[in-house]
Amino acid sequence: MSKYKIAVIEGDGTGPEVIGCALRVLKSTGLDAEFIPIEAGYWAYQKFGKQVTDSAWEIIHESNCILKGPTTTPTGGGETRMKSVAVMLRQKLDLYANVRPCKSRAGVPVPTKFTDLDFVIVRENTEGLYKGIEYEMSEDEVVSLRVFTRKGCERISRFGFELARREKRKKVTLITKANILQITDGFFTNIFNKVAENYPDLEHEDIFVDRANMYMITRPDYFDVIVTSNLFGDVLSDAAAGLMGGLGLAPGANMGDSFAMFEAVHGSAPRYAGQNKVNPTAMILSAVMMLKYLGENKIAEKVEKAVDKVLLEGATNKEIVTYDLDGTATNIKMTDEIVKRME
Ligand code: NAD
Repeated sequence: MSKYKIAVIEGDGTGPEVIGCALRVLKSTGLDAEFIPIEAGYWAYQKFGKQVTDSAWEIIHESNCILKGPTTTPTGGGETRMKSVAVMLRQKLDLYANVRPCKSRAGVPVPTKFTDLDFVIVRENTEGLYKGIEYEMSEDEVVSLRVFTRKGCERISRFGFELARREKRKKVTLITKANILQITDGFFTNIFNKVAENYPDLEHEDIFVDRANMYMITRPDYFDVIVTSNLFGDVLSDAAAGLMGGLGLAPGANMGDSFAMFEAVHGSAPRYAGQNKVNPTAMILSAVMMLKYLGENKIAEKVEKAVDKVLLEGATNKEIVTYDLDGTATNIKMTDEIVKRME
């Protein structure tokens, strides 16, 4: 029997390609794990009428964690209304903290002068506007509810401060729109400030999302740890991915108290599906976050170093990196290069 059982969601669009790359890397590390593909995704919905089948849930409940490729969600307004697989898993498994590090990597072309960024977005992952409580009041009026609970605000604030302490960071910034969304974001701010009293060793502050959004462009080095609600975190983390050089570089983890799911920030990029073109780095770095979660720090370090070597060399050798890094490599070739540098 293997040490770890990992449920694998291959995903839709380019998902199976990037998951294939991450699994290739993980398997070549010698990690003692069984990887079990499960029936989940838009394809599963089309085939079985459920985006996560009963047998998939069974495997999930027997696993240490999930490694998830991006999944497609049909856009609202059309015929199909299917809840996002990612949101469903986050809510049902109570994976309340979405951790999205923004870290610059040498050799990667970036759009700003900031080449040494290192901050983390901690996004509340189960409540807020993504709770999915929406109504059609009439043919002419629709409503979406933004739900915050004391438990939700407390635990995400605590998670942010604990992460800051663990990673020896200095400051935790709460991002809200409490001047306008006074009841919900006012509530969140009060709870955040109360939790902060337990962390006198850390600076804390709260700023509004519009200013935060400007800082993402003008002075992203302002941030250290960001704590924010679901929608704001989603939007800000794609901006943070842009700062790192694009969505192909940005990993993520969905953390609960006793389970976790690892997935890139990016979606299924369906227009590139079948071309082996999209960057596998975000998915491979999400696997690195998984390795750390499992306590396999040495293997995690080995993989991350190999990724960094390829990215650095890719600045001058365009044959080993993908199109988004101005390269010509397929994701299979880029993964080969990463695996070679782990040996
Ligand atoms: P997307 O992240 O899939 O792609 C947007 C663009 O970013 C792409 O067209 C591409 O230019 C670039 N990109 C994305 N991944 C890349 C990679 N690995 N390498 C290089 N470039 C990359 O976002 P979208 O087009 O808005 O959404 C497509 C689908 O993905 C939708 O169905 C959406 O619901 C879904 N989605 C899923 C998740 C998830 O599974 N967690 C997250 C976001 C979006």
